[in-house]
Amino acid sequence: MGSIGTPPSAENGSANPNPATAACDGDRKPQSVDGYHASSNERTLESDVSKKRKSSILPLEVGTRVMCRWRDSKYHPVKVIERRRTHCGGPNDYEYYVHYTEFNRRLDEWVKLDQLDLESVEAVVDEKVEDKVTSLKMTRHQKRKIDETHVEGHEELDAASLREHEEFTKVKNIATIELGRYEIETWYFSPFPPEYNDSLKLYFCEFCLNFMKRKEQLQRHMRKCDLKHPPGDEIYRSGTLSMFEVDGKKNKVYGQNLCYLAKLFLDHKTLYYDVDLFLFYILCECDDRGCHMVGYFSKEKHSEESYNLACILTLPPYQRKGYGKFLIAFSYELSKKEGKVGTPERPLSDLGLLSYRGYWTRVLLDILKKHKGNISIKELSDMTAIKAEDILTTLQSLELIQYRKGQHVICADPKVLDRHLKAAGRGGLDVDVSKLIWTPYKDQG
Ligand SMILES: [Zn+2]
Repeated sequence: MGSIGTPPSAENGSANPNPATAACDGDRKPQSVDGYHASSNERTLESDVSKKRKSSILPLEVGTRVMCRWRDSKYHPVKVIERRRTHCGGPNDYEYYVHYTEFNRRLDEWVKLDQLDLESVEAVVDEKVEDKVTSLKMTRHQKRKIDETHVEGHEELDAASLREHEEFTKVKNIATIELGRYEIETWYFSPFPPEYNDSLKLYFCEFCLNFMKRKEQLQRHMRKCDLKHPPGDEIYRSGTLSMFEVDGKKNKVYGQNLCYLAKLFLDHKTLYYDVDLFLFYILCECDDRGCHMVGYFSKEKHSEESYNLACILTLPPYQRKGYGKFLIAFSYELSKKEGKVGTPERPLSDLGLLSYRGYWTRVLLDILKKHKGNISIKELSDMTAIKAEDILTTLQSLELIQYRKGQHVICADPKVLDRHLKAAGRGGLDVDVSKLIWTPYKDQG
C-alpha cells in the first residue's frame, strides 16, 4: 500500500502519447525513426524480400522492438513483452503483448500482428546486443540515472525488486471491467484468483464488488444482490455525495474485492489479503438507482506512525472532477475528529506528493492569509491535523520559512501567499464537516 492512485491531469496527459513525437506524413509512418522510412522505389524492391523475411522473423521473439499502430492510428515504438497463440489461428499465428516505450506501463496491451510494421523490425537493435552496448558505453553515473528514471516514483523498490515486480506483473491479465454503467480499461496487472486468468473482461457488481466472468452471471447476480450501496455505515451525505465506512474485518470479501479492483489501477499497491486491519472509506455518487462508487481510500485501524491514509484511488471515469482532493481532505477531517495529526503512508509517488502538496499549500496558506500575528507550526498542526513535518516541508518548499535565532519563523507576505495559492490550483469539492456523522474506530463499541 502507500502508493497514490489518483493521477491528476498532468500524469494522464503525460501518459498519452504526444502526437508531435510521431508526426506522420499523411500516411502512417513516423519519419523520426532512422533507417525506417523508405522511398517508394526501394519499397517495391523490398516487398519481395520482405515476404521472405516475414516468414523468417515470425513469430516475433520476446524482446523484439518494432513499430506498432496505436489507438491514435499512428505508429509508435514498442517492445514485445510476451506472445501467445491466437485462439483460432494456425500454429504460427500469434498475438503480442507490447510495451510502448514512450508511454507508461498502464498502456501495455495485446496487439494483433497486423498492427505491427514488420519492416521496422529490421531497423531495430536486438535487446541483448543493445544492453551490452549501452552498459559498455555508459558510465556508472549514467546507468544509475537511467535506473532512477525507470523507477518513476517507485523509489521504495530497489532495482532487483522492481525487475521482479515487472516480471510478475508484466502482462495485464484483465483488459477491461464492467462496473455499473461503465466499461473501464484497466491499467495494471491484478492478482485475481487463477480461474479468472483466461478472462479478458470481468463483470463487477458495483455494490458488493463481486466479480464474474460472464455478463449473464452478472445479470443473474444483480437480480439477487440486495445491496444498493457499499456495505457498512454511511458516515457522510451532502447533496448527491455519500461516504461509507467499511470495516475490513466485518466485510472481508468486500475488502478483498475492492483490493483486486483497485490493483487494476495502482501499479505498486501491495495487495492485502489481510483486510481485517483496515477501514475503507468509499465515496459514492448517489441517485435513485443506488450509491455508485467513485473512489476510496483505506486507512489502518491502528497506525503507530500516525498514518491517516494508506491507499487512495479515484476510478478512471470519475477522475479530474476533484474527487481525489475531496478524499484527501476527508482523511484529514477524520483525523481532526480523532484529535490526532495524520499523514499519508510513505513512500508517496510523485503524483501523490503533488496532490498532497497542493492540499497542504491551500489549507496552510488560507490560514496564514487570515491569521493576524504570529503563528507556530504546532498551532497550524493543531488546527489542520496535518503533521508538523509535512507543514515544515511544505512551507520550506514555498520558501516561507526562515531560521532565525535557532527557531523556524514563518514569513507570510500576503502577495507571496496569493501567488502560491493561485499556483496550487483549486481545492476541488469541499467536505462539509457538518454532514460528517462519525465515531472514531477506537471509540466504536
Ligand atoms: Zn452484488
